[in-house]
Amino acid sequence: MTKNLRNLYRQMILEYSENPHNFGEISNATDSIQMLNPTCGDVIKLSIVIENETIQAISFEGVGCTISKASASIMTDLVKGKSVVEAKELSQNFSNMITDAAEFNEQLLGDAAALEGVKEFPARIKCATLGWKALDKLIEEVK
Ligand code: ZN
Repeated sequence: MTKNLRNLYRQMILEYSENPHNFGEISNATDSIQMLNPTCGDVIKLSIVIENETIQAISFEGVGCTISKASASIMTDLVKGKSVVEAKELSQNFSNMITDAAEFNEQLLGDAAALEGVKEFPARIKCATLGWKALDKLIEEVK
């Protein structure tokens, strides 16, 4: 990765964290879950509206480090309006990228690809995956 790209990604992560997208409560949420990353102290509550197997609305609240907030912010942008099947595919791709476990589709991940560098910091991987794990829990039982 070039230095310029790294700087661009750092800027992008800061921006998503400082001005989080889809931040707040949803009054008509069909489901919600709170998840904690004790090693860092990140807490994320994710709320969702799923109708016709599609994520109609999604938002998050909580306190956490830059990486956990930026990742949840990007995740909510990515999966909003997507089908549950598409959201699961996105989550799997993100997991593959951040754990360096398998091939992933960088184009599919959009701005989430800015977080790839986190894989070099194992202690922070749980920060980046917290929001996505909350998403997994909320959609795993949707048929
Ligand atoms: Zn964190």
